Amino acid sequence: SEQSITQLLAQQVGERSFQNWFAGKVSFKIEGNLLTIGVASPFLLSWMQKKFSSQIYATALACIGSSAEYRFEVNPDLVQVSNNKTSNREPTHSTTVTLETNPSSLSSKNTSGEHKRSDQKNLKKEVSRYKGRLFSNLSTFVTGKSNQLAYTATLQASDQPGVLYNPLFIHGGVGVGKTHLLEGFYRKVRQLYPSLQVVFLTSESFGNYFSKALQERSVPSFRQRFRNVDVLIIDDVDFFESKRIFQEELLHTIKHLESHGRQLVFSSDRHPRLLTKMSEELTTRFLSGLVCRVESPEIELRLEIARQRALKLKTPITMGALEYVSRRFTNNVRELEGAMNCLQTYHVMTKQKITTSMARQILADLERDCIRIVKLDDIKQIVCSTFGISEADLKSSRRARNISQPRMLAMFLGRKLTQAAYSEIGEFFGGRNHSTVMFAEKQVRKWLENRSSIQVALQEWPMEEIIESLEQQ
Ligand code: ADP
Ligand code: MG
Repeated sequence: SEQSITQLLAQQVGERSFQNWFAGKVSFKIEGNLLTIGVASPFLLSWMQKKFSSQIYATALACIGSSAEYRFEVNPDLVQVSNNKTSNREPTHSTTVTLETNPSSLSSKNTSGEHKRSDQKNLKKEVSRYKGRLFSNLSTFVTGKSNQLAYTATLQASDQPGVLYNPLFIHGGVGVGKTHLLEGFYRKVRQLYPSLQVVFLTSESFGNYFSKALQERSVPSFRQRFRNVDVLIIDDVDFFESKRIFQEELLHTIKHLESHGRQLVFSSDRHPRLLTKMSEELTTRFLSGLVCRVESPEIELRLEIARQRALKLKTPITMGALEYVSRRFTNNVRELEGAMNCLQTYHVMTKQKITTSMARQILADLERDCIRIVKLDDIKQIVCSTFGISEADLKSSRRARNISQPRMLAMFLGRKLTQAAYSEIGEFFGGRNHSTVMFAEKQVRKWLENRSSIQVALQEWPMEEIIESLEQQ
């Protein structure tokens, strides 16, 4: 039923995301084996599709059974509904939604035990969210010349964690499958050795937890937590470059785990030797196990990934069209997947088999749209729905942080992603003058640079994801 759909989906995507993206914002309909998710705009459609497809599919499978299918549709009624709702809402109501995520409530002004406990709880929550999340699986990893070595090493190391290659260090460019391999490693070990403590996290999360622990003087319990794990997997360690304090902490963690024979797995965008702003000692550790590189995918691999993607998305496509797409997206699997998703949307809408000329047309449209797709209105919509505030509040003169910060972010994004002038952006976001927009732009830039002050917000609010996703459009 629709109710169990929402419950399951909330479990799949997590309560926070569910509130941000689904609750009261989308409609669900089940007819036969088809789950239809109605969203308010084409923009949201592509965003939701990109972000939540696998969770939605998993939910549909769980509710409807193995023949389940799902599709998104644009449902303009929803715009009416949610607009009315937000504009009628008392400001105080709309702010309650974000109370929890307000940075001021998370930044610790005191070091009471309560805070430490809640931090511990957050860490547990993070770890268990990873446990519940749909991780990529090694069995869905398509191999070819460019990734064979890294794949084989990952597979072998996950069979006998702590025995073969320690640490296992995987490096390569953007979107070549590093995270996929690390997640696959995580799943394989969890499956083979359910009793082992396996922790997977991004370098940024590691840094976030550590700085929180520093602020709250709970470093001992932070250490306790990380040094008790059997397998520690850390994604994107290039993040630690130039961050001395994190590097030191990581080094201690590594030394401790290694001396107890625990498995370590890292990924990075470069070879350890090329991480020039990393301490020599850390680099030496990274080099001491097995270092393997994932190359850009060769054409055969891209073709096979595209073929399997089409199968998974149930999108009928000619061989010619597959080849066309595979030749166009040369060094990044993520982009290739994005293109296939786009073809799927087209197929769902038209029920037609994708041919070469259609693929050419659709992707050309996509490219043309890229140039103009981000409008101030899209930014407004996505910022409001992410932070759970109303359009009226966004454009109002209210200075409460949970409103003024999203507002500044919206203006920053306006500068970054559209061609609009300062004055135009100011006008759009509530009749402000151009110096307000310039200030907002500077401010957000400062937040992003100086991660320490906005870390909490970044972690709790999917701000970076939003920026990234808007940029990809
Ligand atoms: P990276 O971490 O290197 O930036 P990801 O692991 O996030 O890249 O990969 C980007 C996307 O491409 C993911 O959806 C991933 O599942 C997919 N992908 C990458 N390589 C492969 C592969 N060899 N087979 C199947 N899917 C892949
Ligand atoms: Mg990655």
